[in-house]
Amino acid sequence: MQTPRHVTHRPVQCIVPPYIVEHMARSEDPRVRERAMVSLAHAAAVRAVRAFAQQMPPMMAAPSPTGKKTRLVYDARRKDRLPGRLVRGEGDPKSADVAVNEAYDHSGDTYDFYRDLFGRNSLDDAGMSLISSVHVGEVDGSGTYQPMSNAFWDGAQMAYGDGDGAVFTRFTAALDVVAHELTHGVQSYTSNLVYRGQSGALNEHFADVFGILVRQWRRGESAASASWLIGADVLVPANTRRGIRDMEHPGTAFTDDPALGTDPQPAHLRDVYQGPADSGGVHLNSGIPNRAFVLVAQALGGPAWELPGRIWYDAMLQLSRTSTFADMAALTAQIAGDRHGAAVRKAVRAAWKKVGL
Ligand SMILES: [Zn+2]
Repeated sequence: MQTPRHVTHRPVQCIVPPYIVEHMARSEDPRVRERAMVSLAHAAAVRAVRAFAQQMPPMMAAPSPTGKKTRLVYDARRKDRLPGRLVRGEGDPKSADVAVNEAYDHSGDTYDFYRDLFGRNSLDDAGMSLISSVHVGEVDGSGTYQPMSNAFWDGAQMAYGDGDGAVFTRFTAALDVVAHELTHGVQSYTSNLVYRGQSGALNEHFADVFGILVRQWRRGESAASASWLIGADVLVPANTRRGIRDMEHPGTAFTDDPALGTDPQPAHLRDVYQGPADSGGVHLNSGIPNRAFVLVAQALGGPAWELPGRIWYDAMLQLSRTSTFADMAALTAQIAGDRHGAAVRKAVRAAWKKVGL
């Protein structure tokens, strides 16, 4: 269903949204400001490096030689050229580098989650290799290493920065962040939702849903006791910040934070963002379906990866590239009713209604 034209226009999908980076760029702290500027420059630089690779259809991206779980971790060695030097392949012994081991372990957990729960063989369901580059950054004009304060999926691989140490820490540290980025990969091989407006917010929503579900599954957390914070483990702790996003209470992940500002995510359709920033609010409006998912999980109880995760996975396979929130609400209710009965359909409909859909 995919045309090369769409593939060439695939954007770099970052975990830290542009509204946070832009707020940091206006910080009074020169250290925060400088690192934010590097981060902004980075997205553009890496996009250029990957421009050729992104012209290839996804089917051509790094087939796995075995058709089984195949992880390849590269060290970008503080530069912005991807992938860098291969430092750990599948089955290789542990590295002395913690970021290498985290990228390896967390991409493995994500692979296992999709295989064990949904019978999916890697991102493309054809065993493609999971490629990660760690220590992505650059050395500036004065010879100082500037780490990237972000993690992204670029259409072919994962890239992780080490964080500035003031606001962000190592991005490989958070399983939900790794699983979020890899889910963008799964997205590109399934509904491939256009990364703009409501379809883009649904793309972000699925990345958050499966990002958090991989973590909950790995930790054995039930919906009632689980944390719904995205990116808590990549933030330097401060009492003004708890995560990058809060799926249960969108708009409350950070408040009056000197570097991050205040979380702008809406939690209800009446507050939907309709401006041009953030590709039409892809990281902003994802708060609306995120809250609906948490409400479904809490209403159904038990582990959220079981029934709610199953409904959402089936929906991800069935949506089209330009689906809207209303399409998603209708489809999940339909799947719930058809496959899991009237009571489940009722819970799904009630949750969407609470967010205005
Ligand atoms: Zn994302």
